[in-house]
Amino acid sequence: MAGIYVHIPLCKSRCTYCDFYSTVGSPLVERYVDALIAELEMRLVELGGASVHTLYIGGGTPSQLPIAHLRRLAEKLTGTARGAADLEFTVEVNPDDVTLAYIAALRTLNVNRISMGVQSFDDHELRRVNRRHTAQQALEAVNAIRQAGIGNLSLDLIFGLPGQTLASWQRSLQQALALRPEHLSAYGLSYEPGTVLWQQRESGLIRETDEETSVAMYDCLMASTRQAGYEHYEISNFALPGRRSRHNSAYWAGTPYLGLGASAHSYDGQVRRHNPADMAAYVAAIEHGQSPAEAETLEASEQYDEQVMVQLRTCEGIDLPAITERHGPQALAHLLAAAQPHLQSGRLARQGTRLALTAKGIMTSDAIICDLMA
Ligand code: SF4
Repeated sequence: MAGIYVHIPLCKSRCTYCDFYSTVGSPLVERYVDALIAELEMRLVELGGASVHTLYIGGGTPSQLPIAHLRRLAEKLTGTARGAADLEFTVEVNPDDVTLAYIAALRTLNVNRISMGVQSFDDHELRRVNRRHTAQQALEAVNAIRQAGIGNLSLDLIFGLPGQTLASWQRSLQQALALRPEHLSAYGLSYEPGTVLWQQRESGLIRETDEETSVAMYDCLMASTRQAGYEHYEISNFALPGRRSRHNSAYWAGTPYLGLGASAHSYDGQVRRHNPADMAAYVAAIEHGQSPAEAETLEASEQYDEQVMVQLRTCEGIDLPAITERHGPQALAHLLAAAQPHLQSGRLARQGTRLALTAKGIMTSDAIICDLMA
């Protein structure tokens, strides 16, 4: 089994917190789509013949890509997944791009899952981070997505936004849950160097949400989603029963994936490949018949770290026999010794042959993951 991710680095404007690679307005769109198709043909072999069960077009803003271009791309992608009757095909959209006609067109391309960045249902909070849509547009977009017959919808929210209070976060969360998306992703706002948000904090224009409020917001997230019947299956991800993101779950389980497009990453369990975060350089490489990907073979200890890092974020945790099988008994001994203080403090728990974070441990997951690394 394998998955394919495609990056569309287009945005209508930039949100202040974002450090993903994207450009506002590009004359290269058509050539970029041609390059994506050529890259798929060139690099599919890296999946070693594994059958493709999940496709994910993310960004940037894929919904900025005209349907005619998306059609060419989607047809090529679904062609690689032929035979996968259970194909999960996700496209990310922004609320201000969504119309009933647009989503209906996506459905004709076999797209069966939509992921939409809502971030907040408070217009003031949205404006402060330069989101292009309003809360009302997000509600209308959900309506259009449902009307078009999409039965698998994921919404993204952010907590810790400038000006956000615990009460306004609760309101956004309740509004999102009232829409009954099959899936919810919620991330704490992070201040990345080089972003406008970072500069605003440095110049004193905004204040970062304090630790105590962030913890209260995350607590509220865990309690509200649990009460609403969502399974907390990864630190930032929640799903109704049977509606986990199969694409991301496969990635966390170590399934190989191919990342196409500028700034995309690929990983096959041993070799990580990175494409340049530059649309023009990416297109030029492909047009010259070269793979744009730079390969980096991970050392054994780095492969162990990768496995620990992604698996500990999930509710199933780290598969201990798989650690022995892939990295040997010494790696398992290191892991169990490093885990001991956290087991004693109740931040980690043994669940049969797995080692997982507890609710208490989730709050300090980064530090615990660091401790368990090679
Ligand atoms: S958050 Fe999304 S829409 Fe905003 S700048 Fe980043 S990629 Fe573009």
